[in-house]
Amino acid sequence: MFTEKIKIIHQGDPNGNGWIVRIKLPSGRNVFALATENVYGGDWDLGPTWNYVVQTENPFLVDTGRYGMGGRLLEMIDQAGLSVQDLKGITLSHGHEDHDGGLVELTQRTGIPAWVHPIYSCLSRSYPQQAPHSSKENFSASCWHCFMPESFTVAHCLEYHKERSSLDSRLLEGSLLPFDSGIRIHHLPGHCPDSMAFQIDTEALIVGDNILPEITPHPSQEAFFLWTQKILPPEFDRPEKIYGLRAYLRSLKRLVALGREYPQMIVLQAHRLFYDHSWRMIELEKRSGEIIEHHLQRCASILSFLQKEGPRTIKEIVLSHFESKLLKGLGTKMAEGEIKSHLELLEHSGDVEWKREDKVKATGTTLFEQYIRNI
Ligand SMILES: [Zn+2]
Ligand SMILES: [Zn+2]
Repeated sequence: MFTEKIKIIHQGDPNGNGWIVRIKLPSGRNVFALATENVYGGDWDLGPTWNYVVQTENPFLVDTGRYGMGGRLLEMIDQAGLSVQDLKGITLSHGHEDHDGGLVELTQRTGIPAWVHPIYSCLSRSYPQQAPHSSKENFSASCWHCFMPESFTVAHCLEYHKERSSLDSRLLEGSLLPFDSGIRIHHLPGHCPDSMAFQIDTEALIVGDNILPEITPHPSQEAFFLWTQKILPPEFDRPEKIYGLRAYLRSLKRLVALGREYPQMIVLQAHRLFYDHSWRMIELEKRSGEIIEHHLQRCASILSFLQKEGPRTIKEIVLSHFESKLLKGLGTKMAEGEIKSHLELLEHSGDVEWKREDKVKATGTTLFEQYIRNI
């Protein structure tokens, strides 16, 4: 039972906000889970970000909450009875704002080095000469494809982007954490091109947003590569290596294999470790398999819709696949992104093609299942 392994240091709210918990691993080592508040809510609610301090001989922090949460996290580390100065490094599960938002503040206030994936290092910077249009000049490359209107991004994101653009970081290269060889790093692109998981021997896996309970994390789109290919490290020379559903499915398959190899491994996810009054434990192999199945089913249902209804626009596909309560405000754009990443895969498998007037059409084949099996 998970509850037997944990000690509650601070009890937060029923959705996990503010919780501080110590998790004892079988070896006796501790991992501290610290949940910092997020802004999202309503039907797309993820719950807070669960950041983790791993107490090995060389302790480190994974994730830093959303923008503005650096100071809050320092207080929580203190409240957990830990000394911030003992940390040998701060690292990230991936470069989304609810995970790297507090990074610059934390490194500036503590002097502890930030260790980031080489892709993160490239995408978190701004390139005024290469930005797609002038309004994006001061924004990090990771957000050049962002669908939010300029009025919103300038008001809410500009400071965050300016800060992260100035970050002085060290690169995580290779498969072991440079300052602790007991920690294996898995690069698992798809949800985000720099997504990683941190494996603590064979005892626990800090898995970020790669898999979550109940929620199926968003895949990115291969189309994003068009914006960023010029600035990425040269080895990431194909979109499907780091973006989109193909990359994500490949990463999920690796997690299935890892879960099969180490079925006892405790999974520590970045959202909903505790949510709606209860602990949400994940079985690595089972949950990774469920998410693969979800995407397979979504491909199947998009294809059968197009086979039945004839050529359709993305908007029409969205309306047929998402409940109207999910399509308010930002929800529509998120749903569109989700459909686009599935259409990219269906186009690669040969099952759909684009027609005039932005309509997509079924070609008559049903090859995607075999295609996904071969990824
Ligand atoms: Zn994310
Ligand atoms: Zn997240």
